[in-house]
Parts: sequence; C-alpha cells; structure tokens
Amino acid sequence: MSRYWSSVARSLTPYVPGEQPKLANLIKLNTNENPYPPSPSVQAALHAVVNDDLRLYPDPASDALRDAIADLHGVTRDEVFVGNGSDEVLAHAFHALLKHAQPILFPDVTYSFYPVYCGLYDIAFQTLPLDAQFRLCVDDYVRPNGGIVFPNPNAPTGIGLPLNDIERLLLANTDSVVVIDEAYVDFAAQSAVALVSRYPQLLVVRTLSKSYSLAGLRVGYAIGHADLIAGLHRIKDSFNSYPLGRLAQAGALAAIRDTAYLQATCARIIDTRKQLVAELQQLGFEVLPSEANFVFARHEQDDGGQLSSMLRERNIIVRHFRQPERIAPFIRITIGTQSQCQALVEALASLLEISP
Ligand code: PMP
Repeated sequence: MSRYWSSVARSLTPYVPGEQPKLANLIKLNTNENPYPPSPSVQAALHAVVNDDLRLYPDPASDALRDAIADLHGVTRDEVFVGNGSDEVLAHAFHALLKHAQPILFPDVTYSFYPVYCGLYDIAFQTLPLDAQFRLCVDDYVRPNGGIVFPNPNAPTGIGLPLNDIERLLLANTDSVVVIDEAYVDFAAQSAVALVSRYPQLLVVRTLSKSYSLAGLRVGYAIGHADLIAGLHRIKDSFNSYPLGRLAQAGALAAIRDTAYLQATCARIIDTRKQLVAELQQLGFEVLPSEANFVFARHEQDDGGQLSSMLRERNIIVRHFRQPERIAPFIRITIGTQSQCQALVEALASLLEISP
C-alpha cells in the first residue's frame, strides 16, 4: 500500500493468473494453453509484417481481422468487436453493458475474473449457486438484474449448457445484456453465435488463446448486435485506440482463416480428453463431464491442494482453487499432449499408490 495510490487502487482485489514458471522441463497443465503450436500460416503472417511499417500505428479498428471473423460467423463487421485478449473484451463489456442500478448475476463457481471487473468498475453483483452436480440452472437467472454473464462451457468445471437453455434465458431476459463467454466452446459445446441475429441483448465473447493456440498473441473478440458493439467501441476509444498491434492483427487473421487446422487440433485434444477421463476414473477420480480443454477432478483420498503440491514436486503443474470452498477438493487439469497426460496419470498412480 502506498500513500500515492488512488482509492480505487487501494480497494481492488486483483485477479491472480495461473503460474507462468520460468523453469524448463515442467509439464505445464495449469492455464489451459493449447499443447500444439498455432497454424503454420500464423508464423508466416507474422514474419510478413515484421518490416519498416512497424513505425506506423496499426489499424485502430482492425477492419481486416473483423471482416475475417465476420465471415467465419456469418455476421457483418459492425457486429464484431476485437480486443487484447478476451479478458479485455470482457472488461469493456462489464464497463459498457453491465454497469447498471441492479446487480449483475453470475454463478458461484465460475471464472474468477468476473468479481474483479465488478470491483474495478464498481458494479454490484450477486452469485447464484450451481446445483449439486455443478450445473447451471438458467431458471435461477430469471429475476431482475443489471446483466448476466457466464462461460459456456463453464470454468473451471468444464460443464456445457445446451443452446435451448440459453435461448430460454434470452426469451425470459430481454431488459439486460446476457454475455456468454465462449472461451472454450470449440472443444465441444454449442455456440450461441447463431442466436445473435435474433436476440439484440446477447453478446458472445471468444478468444484465440485456447483453441487457436495463440495465448501469447492476446486476441479476443465479441459478436453481438451492432448497438452492443458500438457501446464497446465507445469504451475502447476512451481507453486505448490501438489495442491490437500489427502482429496481433496479422497473426489472428491467419489463424481465423485456417479452419481446417483449428478442427484438427481440437479433435486431437478432444480425443486425449476422452482417454484422460477414462484413466482418471480408473484411478478413482470423480471427473466432471467436460466440454473444454481441461477436466475438473477430485479424489476422495486426497484434497486438491495436497494433490497439486505433490504433482508440483514431480514437475507437473495443475491448477487448484482454494475458493469457493466447495471446489477446494478438485484439481483442474489442462489437456496436454498424449504423452504429457500419460506422465500425469503415471505420477498420480504412484502418488495414490495404485498401479496404473
Ligand atoms: N474466459 C474464461 C472463462 C477464461 O478461462 C479465460 C482464460 N483465463 C478467459 C476468458 C480469458 O482469456 P484470454 O484473455 O486469454 O482471451
């Protein structure tokens, strides 16, 4: 605490991202990165823009990238917003669309950045409990609110919500914005993008960090009615006119266009997930049904904190959340390559003294 800090800086409880260790030879299964490299066309596109034009500012509106995203989803450019990672897109959505008199609603177990944005922008919120199986019940959200936000599939559970539930919520909730955070949707869940043309209160947020293997480039986007997107642009242009640099715009554009590569990578991860779930269950883990590139699992013999620190001693890092208390028994494991997951299973078997 410094006496020079503003009252806002004093009052914040910042988000704590998963560890990015500097050590080599770690099996890193803690921040839901993709174990496979980005499409080869991304590297080529990046090389092509490393030239004298770097002295010039980038296109502030990222028009070429927005056009490619619009093409991908069958929408128009004015229905697309891009930002420096979906975290920034979410932050602007909170500021532009979710700050009203009524509290916003999100699940008790969800992406832990949401309450942080509420703190930053002074937005009241109310959390609604997932059910005993960690499922989200949309009927609970049909009540007065300043907005609704949740990931689909949810994080850190990995559980997806069927599209007809989302549509039921949109039919019942027309007076405030519903933000669906689809960070992990490419790993099997149903996207709500198709609903955007019929529901002007729906904003779908996506990232290139997971399925496109581009966490290092920092690109995210939102799809929604042009009026919602215009609101996001007002905030963006009052904050940073150039959130995406020349490299980010060019690399993201190449990734978005390579749909065959995206599908192939996601298919591999889904395959590995299926195998990992079966092996964890054999070791006695309860694994929540995942539609994401991670699984959330618990073992009756050990709590999540203990398991994650024992794995850490064996150079494998997974994510453990102490809060809320009901998820403390779990560990969240990112789906790595086949061999990384095999090493994890072997380490767990030996920790639990079971022969795999
Ligand atoms: N939403 C959810 C649910 C996430 O887990 C993450 C990754 N931490 C993000 C959004 C943000 O991803 P990024 O800023 O890399 O796009």
